[in-house]
Amino acid sequence: MVARVVLVLGGTGEARRLASVLGGVAGVRVVSSLAGRVREPVLPVGEVRIGGFGGVPGLVAWLRERAVDVVVDATHPFAATMTGNAVAATGELGLPLLVLRRPGWTEQAGDCWHWVSSIAEAAALVPSLGSRVLLTTGRRDLPAFANPELWFLCRSVDPPESHSDNVEVLLDRGPYTVDGELELLRRYRIEVLVSKDSGGEQTAAKLVAARRLGVPVVMVRRPALPAADTVGTVAAAVEWVRRGSGVG
Ligand code: NAP
Repeated sequence: MVARVVLVLGGTGEARRLASVLGGVAGVRVVSSLAGRVREPVLPVGEVRIGGFGGVPGLVAWLRERAVDVVVDATHPFAATMTGNAVAATGELGLPLLVLRRPGWTEQAGDCWHWVSSIAEAAALVPSLGSRVLLTTGRRDLPAFANPELWFLCRSVDPPESHSDNVEVLLDRGPYTVDGELELLRRYRIEVLVSKDSGGEQTAAKLVAARRLGVPVVMVRRPALPAADTVGTVAAAVEWVRRGSGVG
């Protein structure tokens, strides 16, 4: 039997779990793709390629060259450019595409969340909520928050390219515990937390800690989902690949 080639667009824990499970499915060959943003990425098992494809034309060429049969976009919910490129390239080639997106977070009693639609909107809102800010949206968003009146703790996997004196950088990648997050918020006397609605268990503890301490959260809404088949769990994605690619 000729193996069906599945390209998993990754950069998330779900993508790694998917690659691991699909690696054990007879008749499926998985290739995982990472953008190469993180210096020491946690690698999925199996074949991995790293780096951009070169926009839609590059992705189309790559999919052709590697005779890919199925694409699963398991990128982060905020990796909207990659997702858009996957939609366009698979559309051009007539390949099946599945989007795997873990559900977003849900506000609970006691939360004080302020929903915004962009990082710029978040940056504009923060000064009205507090002056000691925990930023968890990623190092690349740091410049948008520049404000000499505020103090920032910027938690990220890799350091930002540069930062001003009112920014302290904390390198970490989780998973995080509620106790650890409570300690962090207290130690740095955090008055406002900024987060993307990334969803998932790995980084949700900060939201529980913020609720307990009455710290307001500026929550950045996800970009819209593309018009493509979408599932929320790795198990559902495995099932889709088995059926969608005619395997199993
Ligand atoms: P993005 O803005 O949607 O994509 C920008 C460009 O990066 C894409 O056009 C593509 O370059 C390349 N790229 C992105 N994901 C790729 C992948 N899995 N494989 C190969 N190339 C990829 O993406 P982003 O927000 O910078 O995210 C980059 C990576 O970090 C993704 O894998 C994502 O899952 C992960 N991540 C993102 C966030 C976040 O908050 N955005 C958080 C955690 C993890 P070409 O056009 O050259 O193909």
